[in-house]
Order: sequence, then structure tokens, then C-alpha cells
Amino acid sequence: MSIATNIHRINAELTGTPARLCVVTKTHPVEKLQEAYDAGARCFGENRPQEMAAKQPQLPADVEWHLIGQLQTNKVKLLAPFVHTIQSIDSAKLLREINKHAAANGRVINGLLQFHIAQEETKSGLTLAEAEEILRSDEYQQFQHVRLTGVMGVATFTHDEAQLRHEFQQLRGYFEHLKATYFVADDAFRDISMGMSGDYPLAVAEGSTLVRVGSAIFGSRG
Ligand SMILES: *Cc1c(COP(=O)(O)O)cnc(C)c1O
Repeated sequence: MSIATNIHRINAELTGTPARLCVVTKTHPVEKLQEAYDAGARCFGENRPQEMAAKQPQLPADVEWHLIGQLQTNKVKLLAPFVHTIQSIDSAKLLREINKHAAANGRVINGLLQFHIAQEETKSGLTLAEAEEILRSDEYQQFQHVRLTGVMGVATFTHDEAQLRHEFQQLRGYFEHLKATYFVADDAFRDISMGMSGDYPLAVAEGSTLVRVGSAIFGSRG
């Protein structure tokens, strides 16, 4: 099936839900990104800063570039002129660096707090306690150039539906707790980024507002 067909099918599945599609374009050449763009996609997710920075000038200016992979602080500078959302904020240090480089570019960059929800040790992210420590800090209150817009998580790679539901419910619970405690009057804090090719229907059923889908659109990355 073509890229356009897949995007139209997924968008149709998401119609009537609060979820929107972020197309995960990592490893794919810009011609395929252009095909996705022509099919109406505007949110593109990449996991490598250099790859994103190389592709960005080759696509139309209204693409929303989302960084979805782990980000080293020394790479923030590369993305700060254009990145729309950094979905993988996992430390106060990274938040500080994003704020600094966004300020230098006269911008506000959106960010999601990434939580550890999977059973696998390798998947990174904050605990709820770590996130709250950041949100309560005096330093965080001073940041004018980074706007937290929600939470993100990567579930365990499994077909076990009960396990996946449990992990998605956990992330949604974190979101609701943070919303009620720190962002009650802040309409911008609204996203729960969860769900990938293998599990996005379940994630949407559990309250996802942003699904990150790659291989179900482009085929396997090989
Ligand atoms: C690669 C990736 C995705 C997309 O995975 P698919 O299974 O190809 O849909 C989503 N989220 C993150 C964080 C990724 O690294």
C-alpha cells in the first residue's frame, strides 16, 4: 500500500478520537517525507538530531518537526532554530539547555516529559517523582522559552494487550496528576504521546492524543 493510502487510513481511524498522527520518518529519504507531506501529514518525528537537521531544509516550512529519540544536551543547538516539539525531555539539564538555545533563537520550543513506562530497562524516561522535582524547582519557574505541552512514553515491545493497556493507563495517570497539580490553568499542557505502529489502536483507546507511527506507513525500516 502506498504512503498516502496508509496515512489516509490511519487518519480515518483517528477521526472522532482526540488523537492526531505524527508520522515517524526516521531513516527514510526526503522523497518519502514529501510523499507523506503531500498526503496531508504535517507532524514528522525523527529520533536523530543530525538526520532531522539535514532533512528540515528540504521539506516545506510548515512541517512540525518532533524529536522523539534521546537527545544529548550538546545537540540541542542543532535543532533550536526550527524544532517544534522535543518529545523526549528526560532531565532538568536537558530542559535548561532547550530553554537556553530557544532563547538564543528568539523562540519558544514545546516539550513533552518522557516517562519510563516499559518493563524493559533500556527504555529511558523519568519517574513521576523525578518529573515533579523538576516542576517544583525554582529554576523551572524561570524558563520562558520552553513550554511543556504534555507527556510521552514508549510501551514495552509486546503483543500482551493487558500489559500494554496497563502501561498506557499508567502514562495517562501521570498526565492527569501533573495536569491537576501543575497545569490546571494551562491549556497548552494537553498531549499524551503514546502508541506506535504495533499498538496505536490500544493507545488511542486509553487516551492517547498523539500517536507516533512509522512502519505502518512506510513499511519496515529493514
Ligand atoms: C521509531 C519510533 C516510533 C515509531 O515506531 P513504528 O513501530 O515504526 O511505528 C515511535 N516512537 C519512537 C520513540 C520511536 O523511536
